[in-house]
Amino acid sequence: MSISDKDWNDWHWQLKNRLHSLEQIEKQLALSPEEQRGLRFASKEKLAFSLTPYFFNLIDPQNPDCPIRRQVIPRVEELVSLPYEMSDPCGEDKDMVAPGLVHRYPDRVLFLVTDRCASYCRYCTRSRIVSGVSGQKLETDDKLAFEYLKNHREVRDVLISGGDPLLLSDSRLERLLRQLREIPHIEIIRIGTRIPIFLPQRITDSLCKMLKAYHPLWLNIHANHPKELTMEVKIALEKLADAGIPLGNQSVLLKGINDDHQIILELVRKLIRCRVRPYYIYQCDLIQGTDHFRVPIKKGLEIMRNLRGFTTGFAVPQYVVDGPGGGGKIPLNPDYVIGYYEDKVLLRNYEGKIYSYPGGQDTKQEENYDRQSGTCM
Ligand SMILES: *Cc1c(COP(=O)(O)O)cnc(C)c1O
Repeated sequence: MSISDKDWNDWHWQLKNRLHSLEQIEKQLALSPEEQRGLRFASKEKLAFSLTPYFFNLIDPQNPDCPIRRQVIPRVEELVSLPYEMSDPCGEDKDMVAPGLVHRYPDRVLFLVTDRCASYCRYCTRSRIVSGVSGQKLETDDKLAFEYLKNHREVRDVLISGGDPLLLSDSRLERLLRQLREIPHIEIIRIGTRIPIFLPQRITDSLCKMLKAYHPLWLNIHANHPKELTMEVKIALEKLADAGIPLGNQSVLLKGINDDHQIILELVRKLIRCRVRPYYIYQCDLIQGTDHFRVPIKKGLEIMRNLRGFTTGFAVPQYVVDGPGGGGKIPLNPDYVIGYYEDKVLLRNYEGKIYSYPGGQDTKQEENYDRQSGTCM
């Protein structure tokens, strides 16, 4: 089949021609029995299968472990759940204060505005409500959500997510942004989206022009592997950056995909060339059926130790784990403090060399005192 450039570059064409079934994929790619069973069963009960032709084209057919393929082609392992795996690993449902609105932290909320994405990541943390196959529905009622936001003046930061908010039409998205901007205490708006990676064609001039009117607006993308940062993606990201939108990236640490410091190093260097600052790297949430993706925290810390100092400081993301059951994001850091002594603190630098800094216990007590009495700043 030949496809015109005009069609290929049209995001509506890409969406309309997404791959949805085993039969469609098998015409173009030889699948393993694990993938066949994944497509037959996991995509019917856990999380739907959907893939833009653009992202499908990035799969290396010669490599059964292709990092693009592993993120989006279902596998039979998804049907296996361990006792500690959950359907709502971050405990979002219990912090839902209005339909689609999760209020966990003091000053900011997560606003889930759709349950659909351009393609589905097999380790989706919201597979319980995303894609519409798992039984639980994402309740949305903009009226109730906006009422809550208006009445809660402590909320100064709204993170729009889903599903993928950039799947909404420009006009629906604009209506949301306009309504948020009408609330005076909302200072910043953020969008969390993987569309620039799955469907870079969606980042049109008209979208950027519209977004630009709602500053301060921040946007986080989701890239896990340097192969995802193609020329098309780079152009899309440049358009967003040129619209004055500060860009961040959130990655998930995934076994066999990016659990290697060379790959992460290449990823973060490529991200900053695309004007995206690496923000978070997540420990994989305890979603049911994701054990085959899980990397031990110890290995994650090792990867972080091999980043800090070895590349641009602001290219180093914060490694976090979402506290299972609803603890929120907990930072994970390699330990650079060897110990506190009477008169000094012993420190390790990025190369493993040891340094001593004067002032031990006393300094630490003073710091605690300041924090409690609020005299800092
Ligand atoms: C991640 C998250 C946020 C945003 O957290 P930041 O650390 O500010 O990026 C807000 N609310 C919920 C429920 C979240 O999971």
